[in-house]
Amino acid sequence: MNQTAIARSWVEHANGHSDFPLQNLPLGIFSRAGGERRSGVAIGDAILDLEAVLAAGLFEGEARTAVEATRGGALNAFFALGRSARVALRERLLALLGEGSEHQATLKAALYPASECELHVPARIGDYTDFYVGIQHAMNVGKLFRPDNPLLPNYKYVPIGYHGRASTIRPSGTEVRRPKGQTLPAGQSEPSFGPCARLDYELELGIWIGQGNDMGQAIPIGDAAEHIAGFCLLNDWSARDIQAWEYQPLGPFLSKSFISTISPWVVTAEALEPFRCAQPARPNGDPQPLSYLLDTRDQAAGAFDIELEVLLITERMREQNLPAHRLGLSNTLSMYWTVAQLVAHHSVNGCQLQPGDLFGSGTLSGAEPGQYGSLLEITEGGKHPVELASGEVRKFLEDGDEIILRARARRDGVASIGFGECRGKVVAAN
Ligand code: MN
Repeated sequence: MNQTAIARSWVEHANGHSDFPLQNLPLGIFSRAGGERRSGVAIGDAILDLEAVLAAGLFEGEARTAVEATRGGALNAFFALGRSARVALRERLLALLGEGSEHQATLKAALYPASECELHVPARIGDYTDFYVGIQHAMNVGKLFRPDNPLLPNYKYVPIGYHGRASTIRPSGTEVRRPKGQTLPAGQSEPSFGPCARLDYELELGIWIGQGNDMGQAIPIGDAAEHIAGFCLLNDWSARDIQAWEYQPLGPFLSKSFISTISPWVVTAEALEPFRCAQPARPNGDPQPLSYLLDTRDQAAGAFDIELEVLLITERMREQNLPAHRLGLSNTLSMYWTVAQLVAHHSVNGCQLQPGDLFGSGTLSGAEPGQYGSLLEITEGGKHPVELASGEVRKFLEDGDEIILRARARRDGVASIGFGECRGKVVAAN
C-alpha cells in the first residue's frame, strides 16, 4: 500500500474529512473579506494560502515554480505547466501538511477557516464544451422522443458534444435566475415569450484542461490523459421548454447559456489516481472505438469510480427544517467514453485546446430509477412528479428550490475524497 493512501495530517479536522483529507489537496482561487483573489488548497475545513506559504520561503525548485504560476487570481498558468509541476507541488504539500511537519507554526498562520472565505471560478475559461457521454441519460432522453430508437446511429462512434458558453460559468453558491425565452406551448402553433416553466438541472463531471495543443496538432489518445489538470462538479442548468423549441437543427443554445454552476475546487488527476479503473466493457454488439480513440492503457485504467449525488431543498423544506431530498445517486462509471477519449476526439480535427478550457461530461445517470441525473428523466418530461416530505411535488424546479451536487470517491484501504459542493438556488425571473 502506498503510504500516501493512509497518511494523516497535523491539521486535525482534515483526518477523516468527507471531502478534503490530506490525500485530496485540491486547488482553488479564494478571497477573504475585501481581499484580493489568491490561490489556495483545501485541507479539512480550512484553506491554505499558497501565496503566503510561498512568501515564507517554504517552496523550492519545481514546487516553487508551480506555486508562482498560481498567482494572479487564476490557475491557467499553473495548468499550462502540466503534470510534473502538479506532482512536485503535491509532494511538497503532503510533506508540509502531513504529520511530523517541521513548519506547523508558519503554516498555521496561512490557514484560514473556509467558512470565512469566498471561492471563485478557478481559471479564466476560454472555451467550454459540453459532451453527452452518459449513455443511460442519452437513452432515457431519447426514449421520450423516439421510444423505438432512443440512440441515434452516431452515438456509439462519436463522443457527441456541443460548444457551450464560458462567460456564464459561475462558482457554487451563485443564484440561478430563471431565464426567459421562446417556447412553443403544447397544442399551440405559435411560440410564446416568458419565464421558463420547465427549469431543470444536469448532474455532470467537469474536466479542466491542463496543457493545450497547437492548432492543427491533434492530441493522440495515448497522451490525452496528460492534458487533463483536474476535475470538478458541473450543473448544466437547462430550460427544457426553451430547449425543445430551439434545439433543431443545431443543438442547445439559450436553453443552456444562462448559467452553468461548478464546484470551485480543482480535484487533481493525481488525487483521483487511486480511483481509476478499467473502462466498463461495451455491451455485446457495440462497435469498438475507432483507432484514434482506442488505447490499451486508457481502456485498462482510464475510467473513474466516483459516486455522484443530487439533493434538493425547497423553501418550504427549509422552513420546516426537513433534510435535503436525494433526487439521484449515480456514478462516473456510466460514461460511455473516457475523459482521455474526449480530449483526443475534441482535438482530432486540429481544434486548439487551451489551459483552463472546461469540458462537461454530459448528464451522468445510472440505469435504475433513483440513479437519474435530471428531472427530465425522473419525471419523464413532467408526467410523474416527485413527492417531497414537505407535501410538495415537483415536475421541474420552482423559485426558491436549491440543487446541491456532491461527489465521493472511495476504495478500501484508501482515504476517500470528495469534490466539495456545487450548489445553486433558483430565483424568480427578472
Ligand atoms: Mn449537459
